[in-house]
This record gives sequence, C-alpha cells and structure tokens, in this order.
Amino acid sequence: MSEIRDITLAPSGERKIAWAKRYMPLLRGIEEEFIREKPFKGVKMTASLHLEAKSAVLCRVLMEGGAELRITGCNPLSTQDDVTAALVSGGAEVYSVHGCTMEDYDRHMAMALEFGPNIIIDDGGDLVSMLHRDMPQLLPGVLGGCEETTTGIIRLHAMAREGALKFPMLTVNDARCKHFFDNRYGTGQSVWDGINRATNLVVAGKNVVVAGYGWCGRGIAMRAKGLGARVTVTEVDPVKALEAMMDGYAVKTMDEAAPEGDIFVTATGCRDVIVERHFLKMRDGAILCNGGHFNVEVDVDWLERNALDKSQGRTDVTRGYTLNNGKTLFVLAEGRLVNLASGDGHPVEIMDMSFAIQALAAKYLAQHRDSLPCQVLEIPDEIDYDVARRKLASCGMTIDTLTDAQRAYLESWAL
Ligand code: NAD
Ligand code: SAH
Repeated sequence: MSEIRDITLAPSGERKIAWAKRYMPLLRGIEEEFIREKPFKGVKMTASLHLEAKSAVLCRVLMEGGAELRITGCNPLSTQDDVTAALVSGGAEVYSVHGCTMEDYDRHMAMALEFGPNIIIDDGGDLVSMLHRDMPQLLPGVLGGCEETTTGIIRLHAMAREGALKFPMLTVNDARCKHFFDNRYGTGQSVWDGINRATNLVVAGKNVVVAGYGWCGRGIAMRAKGLGARVTVTEVDPVKALEAMMDGYAVKTMDEAAPEGDIFVTATGCRDVIVERHFLKMRDGAILCNGGHFNVEVDVDWLERNALDKSQGRTDVTRGYTLNNGKTLFVLAEGRLVNLASGDGHPVEIMDMSFAIQALAAKYLAQHRDSLPCQVLEIPDEIDYDVARRKLASCGMTIDTLTDAQRAYLESWAL
C-alpha cells in the first residue's frame, strides 16, 4: 500500500532510528505504558511529520499504542528515504518520497487521509486544511487532532475565527515543554547545523542578520553569537525589538541590514521578509536561508525569475543567483526550513520532549473523544508538567517541593 523511494534502504534507516531511540527516554517510557494500555485500540490515525528518525520513533510508539497509522511527510525536502523504508519494513504505511513534486506531496497526503482517520497529527496544518477543503465527507469521523508548530496554530485560529474548524485541535506547540525548548534551543542549534552542512563556512566574525525575535529567532541569534558572529535582529514587534537590544544585539530594519549581512536567517512565520529591494543592496556572496515555516520568507520566486545565471552553488539545494548588478546571492535549501532540508532537524533529545507532548496529547484526545469542543484547545497543564517531570527524572535531577506553609504563603493576600 505504501509509496516510498526504495525499500532496500531500510537497514540504514533502522540504524538511524535505533540511534535516536537510545536518546529518547521519554518516548521509550511512554511506549511501555502504551503497550500495556493500548489507548489507541480501534483508532485510525494520520500523521504528517518531517519523516526522519525521531518522527519514526514517535510513529512506532503510536502504533504500539494500538493505532492504525498512515504516515506522510510535512515538507518535500525533509523526508529521509531510508527512514521511510525502515518504517515500511516494520509494518507501517507510509506515503512520502524525498524531493517529490508538490503535486505528489498533495497526492501522498490524500492517500494518507482517504481511509478516514479519527485522530490527526499535523505539522503545519496541511492535513487539517486538506480534510476541510477537499475531503469534507471524512470530517464527521475525526475526533480531533494535534498541531506541532506555530504557523499551523496561526492557521487553525484563522479557521476557528471563521467558524470553519470542524473538530477539536490541541496546540502542541503552545505547551511550554514544546516551544521553550524545541523552538528556541532546537531551532537555535539545528539551523546552524543546517547552514554549516550546506556551506562548510566559518561563522565566527561574520555579520549574521536574524529576522524575527520570537522563540525560534531568539535561539538562532543566541547560537550565532556563541559561534562568534556579530548579530543584527530585525523585528516588527517593538517589545521583541527592545528585548533583542537588551540581549545585546543590533536592531535594524531589513533595509538597513541588507547591505551589511553575510548570512541572513528568517524565522518570522511571515512572508516577503527579504525581497527584491533588499537583494539589490546585498553584498556579493551573501547567504540567505529560512528557519520559519514556509518558503515565502525569502522571495526565492523573484530570484528564480530574475537571476541572469543560476549555475553556481555547492549542491543542488544551495543555489547561486547572479543578479544584473553582477553580484551572486546564495539561497540554501530553496528557502525552505534549512535545519530540516539541509540537516536532520532538531536534536534528538529536543524532539523526545516535543513528541512526548504529541503522544500524550493524542492519548488525551482518545480519552476525551466526546467531550471536547470543535475549537483550538490548549494542552492541559498536567501534560506539560508530566513531560517536564519525566525529563527531569531521565536526567537524574530532582527539584524542591513547596511545603504547606510555603504554599499557604504564596496563596495568601493578607501577609
Ligand atoms: P513567534 O511568533 O514566537 O516569532 C515570530 C517573530 O517574528 C515575532 O516576534 C514577530 O513579531 C516577528 N515577525 C513577524 N513578521 C515579521 C517581519 N516581517 N519582519 C521581522 N519580524 C517579523 O514564532 P516562532 O515560534 O519563533 O516560529 C517562527 C516560525 O518558525 C513559524 O513559522 C514556525 O512555524 C516555525 N518553526 C520552525 C521550526 C524549525 O524547525 N525550523 C521550529 C519551530 C517553529
Ligand atoms: N509543514 C511545515 C512544517 C513546519 S516545521 C514545512 O513547511 O516544513 C516546524 C516544526 O518541525 C517544529 O515545530 C518542530 O517541532 C518540527 N521539527 C524540527 N525538527 C524536527 C525533527 N528532527 N523531526 C521532526 N520534526 C521536527
């Protein structure tokens, strides 16, 4: 049933999955519980994820919980064909091929949905939007879903505002054990890993421009500073701009930063952050990449249409665009998420926490199947605290507990 590149790649994928699982104690613990409890017995599930080793571990945990699971990618460049081969060898149904066309990407998603899932695990909102747009007949069977990332949640809120959302969606990204760590430290490390793999250049001494000082931007700027770069931040939110200034960064507009930057990284979730007028001011050899959701933060379409020459570039996905001013700009990973398209995405231990939230949120949906409203819902605090406690325990760390007197003191107003 599956559609993947090549099943003979399975042994390499299996090694990657085994490596990841070794460093995912939270998911291993949840897997043991799921094997006993089978919370997804009789539940059909569709997951759209970056199909690399950590996601494969999550998928297997959900299947151990009894789910009948269909899996598809969430970005044409982040699927790893050896990992999908391992998943299929292990009995999973997978529809995803690295580097496929957008038509095939949509076709794979439709194949993963057409059996009528009860629970959706989405990363970016593509499953939810295809279900509502193209497969409304399947909506009554969906008891709910979980959304992994910031932009997906923004899309869900837009649907809910218009009354279009037809099943409850839990916002995994908004759990503190997700965005505090995944968006900040995960993106902070993995974006630089992706840039380093794609360019093989030194970061120290370079002028790095980070667009957006949200959770991801903070991490990207922090790690750039640690690598020895001079960092400039661009923002549209005055409070975040001040925070960046107090954190020690230069804060400028993109127009001001464009002529100065050696490496530009966008992480805004917005569109048209770096466009023609910026390109034309940039230094020869400037490197542009994106850590935000879609490939619209850097206007790669304009470069594709207007470059005089596109022959330079280190790899297929590190393309040089020579402009009519004689300067060449390099775009990494087609302007898609550089950490996942040029690397393996976030580090393993980070995804262990994010996916622990995913797994427990899916269990929560299965348990509360008839009582949740068709709205965008926060992850209950108890899941957040549960994951934090599991993580502390896995690190061998203990923390203090409030005494009764301390609790009374904190809860009292008449001191
Ligand atoms: P966030 O809302 O915390 O931060 C976004 C920031 O960008 C905000 O401070 C906002 O004011 C700023 N911004 C918006 N438009 C801007 C513009 N035109 N110019 C400059 N700044 C602008 O969101 P986040 O959690 O940091 O996520 C950012 C993006 O990264 C989202 O699209 C999210 O889905 C994606 N994401 C990617 C990864 C990854 O693995 N690469 C991980 C998590 C999130
Ligand atoms: N469909 C979108 C996906 C957004 S990616 C796209 O166009 O690519 C942002 C999400 O990827 C983050 O919230 C993060 O949790 C997730 N992520 C980062 N590294 C990952 C990894 N190694 N494996 C799986 N998911 C990862």
